[in-house]
Amino acid sequence: SAWASHTDPPPPPPPPLASLTWWCIAWKRMKGFFTFSPFLFLLLPLPPLPPASAVQIQVIEDDRVKTTEPFTTGVRGQAPPLVTSNFHVKDQGNASPRFVRCTAYNMPCTADMAKQSQVPLAAVIKPLATLPPDETPPYLVDHGEAGPIRCNRCKAYMCPYMQFIEGGRRFQCGFCSCVSDVPPHYFQHLDHTGKRVDCYDRPELSLGSYEFLATVDYCKNNKLPQPPAFIFLIDVSYNAVKSGMVNIVCQELKTLLDHLPRSRDAISSALTVGQWSTLRLLLYIVFTTIANGSRRLIYFVHVSFCSLLDQIPEMFADTRETETVFGPVIQAGLEALKAADCAGKLFVFHTSLPIAEAPGKLKNREDKKLIGTDKEKSLFQPQVGFYSTLAKDCVAQGCCVDLFLFPNQYVDVATLGVVPVSTGGSVYKYTYFQAQSDRERFLNDLRRNVEKPMGFDAVLRVRTSTGIRATDFFGSFFMSNTTDVELAGLDCDKTVTVEFRHDDKLSEETGALMQCAVLYTSCSGQRRLRVHNMAVNCCSQLADLYRNCETDTIINFFSKYAFRSVLTSPTKTVREGLVNQCAAILACYRKNCASPSSAGQLILPECMKLLPVYLNCVLKSDVLLPAADVSLDDRAYLRQLLSGMDVSESHVFFYPRLLPLMKLEGDSLPLAVRDSEERLSKGGAYLLETGLHLFLWVGANAQQELLLNIFGTPSFGQIDPNLVRGPQTQNGFSVGAVMAMRLIVVKQEDKAELIFRHFLVEDKNASGGASYVDFLCHMHKEIRQLLS
Ligand SMILES: [Zn+2]
Repeated sequence: SAWASHTDPPPPPPPPLASLTWWCIAWKRMKGFFTFSPFLFLLLPLPPLPPASAVQIQVIEDDRVKTTEPFTTGVRGQAPPLVTSNFHVKDQGNASPRFVRCTAYNMPCTADMAKQSQVPLAAVIKPLATLPPDETPPYLVDHGEAGPIRCNRCKAYMCPYMQFIEGGRRFQCGFCSCVSDVPPHYFQHLDHTGKRVDCYDRPELSLGSYEFLATVDYCKNNKLPQPPAFIFLIDVSYNAVKSGMVNIVCQELKTLLDHLPRSRDAISSALTVGQWSTLRLLLYIVFTTIANGSRRLIYFVHVSFCSLLDQIPEMFADTRETETVFGPVIQAGLEALKAADCAGKLFVFHTSLPIAEAPGKLKNREDKKLIGTDKEKSLFQPQVGFYSTLAKDCVAQGCCVDLFLFPNQYVDVATLGVVPVSTGGSVYKYTYFQAQSDRERFLNDLRRNVEKPMGFDAVLRVRTSTGIRATDFFGSFFMSNTTDVELAGLDCDKTVTVEFRHDDKLSEETGALMQCAVLYTSCSGQRRLRVHNMAVNCCSQLADLYRNCETDTIINFFSKYAFRSVLTSPTKTVREGLVNQCAAILACYRKNCASPSSAGQLILPECMKLLPVYLNCVLKSDVLLPAADVSLDDRAYLRQLLSGMDVSESHVFFYPRLLPLMKLEGDSLPLAVRDSEERLSKGGAYLLETGLHLFLWVGANAQQELLLNIFGTPSFGQIDPNLVRGPQTQNGFSVGAVMAMRLIVVKQEDKAELIFRHFLVEDKNASGGASYVDFLCHMHKEIRQLLS
């Protein structure tokens, strides 16, 4: 059978507990810096060692080389390869790291130990993640009319952690130990080891991830759902028309209808399409019509959709209307979904601060003087409560809102983003949108958004074994109680981060179990449950904890925690909190796990070698320490964007990928280099990817052949920085990001180089962000203080 290959390989030998000594001082001496604080000189003399963060690239490269075998998930507590490695996953009983990544794969047994170490216990979950073509998507399991088999007490779903007893007639729950009866239709005999003989024929008994078909009991009002609908709402004010946005959207919508997402079982997409424009006057007419409660409108629009799309740009070509509304636009879309009695997604295309007299009216409150003060937090908070209430109504209907912004000035993203961020939606931002240069990027985003697999009207719940529980959640969702994460929409890119805390002792023998179950409506209108199971080891020795952490996931958690904290605390306090916690983590290691002979040296656990370099990147991000030219809208936008990022996205967001283009050969990407100016050769060209921006930096002495290949001219002086398309290389690598990135060509010593340098995150920056080496020394000092 398909599951016959499942075996339990012996656990791998524990990795060596190597400790790495950072000789940053020596490096500074070599570099000729002698002007640092006195404590630095305590360590001299030191042997010369490679520059401190060469390790950053080295760790990534070592993991890539190591990762040649498929990663199998059958071994409890095994940390997966890094997100920067290419690897193949075989599900053998725990969720793939593409679905779930944990900060620690050896959880401390007790709350005291967890508190002592300060290592956050969290999981980053991407429930509907898209898998590579050579990995099997989760199987769909149908337990019949009675629905999925569950524990009687904690309601955990049938999974590999349920222990069958009494000849197979009952099962004991791995989460709460309650014993439940096996329903007669699900009975099966046990083999001599106590396993059900059909174990490997059933995904829910042998795999980490699978789906159940949900019954009518799992549906709103005990009624099977209608297929979801997509509704497009287009701002047709003066700016929207003039920028070319209205025309592009209307043209594109005609072809988008062929690209609607499909469930794996559906032949054609069952999604419904509705549309109308959002001019103030027109909107109110439409709004009134819909409030009267007719489903007619949606069908009416559907029939005449294409001709209407042709007419819209002409109808508003001469508009002088500059004031827009925003609240009523979403209300209208929501009413339409209510009338159609279905869940769905609103695509809102909007240009400006909604100052027109209407519900949700906003005023311009942009005030850069508040930056760095105790009042800075107000800039991240919504200015009116209207949108939070509206978001709640949207979630109740399963109405997800995606917002495409085309601002020429302040639009108050902190407030406009409230509904998307609470409904599982996304915000896209095209500042100073120009049809000619931004059209392609916008259309890429829109097409990908329309096509991507997603679920609607979703509820996510995380169950854990006795001893720990999920206490905090981060992401784009709404919560009306402390356990149910409600997502009006959940697409394949969205991530929910969960923090765990002890409520009792854990045992080394049983480990800690976690089950994430997401109930959702598929694109075809089927109600389903996606289940991800994850078991990690538990330990009573700190050394075991520090042996098995995942730094990229820790940084994902820390950054989400910090970016949420700016809503309530000054950024300075948030930055200090991060430094203190990381210093405590490393001091605890130094005190309890490192050899005493290394007094005075900075010693980091092998798996946290990169914690300082990445932490410094979080501290100097534009949300926590903004550059002078970063707008308040950009900061609010980045803050919201991060909340839904998975570990690989947050990795490149904080530590951009810098690729030398001089040695492009064969199929493989060039090796990334460190994000530092000193890595840039005047004779080369480099691509820098942040997930949002793509810079192409060209050295003043770049080789003619290189320039010819990239720009079609051998002369540096003749390079056109307005080049829109990226350089096409033979292997055609695309730096795959959730959003299309704008390519910015930066010629060495051009004005644009300032923006580019902002992303060379190992260097000191203009807004006061420390260089990596300075920060490392600072951390060392903090740790020594904690130890003394
Ligand atoms: Zn249970």
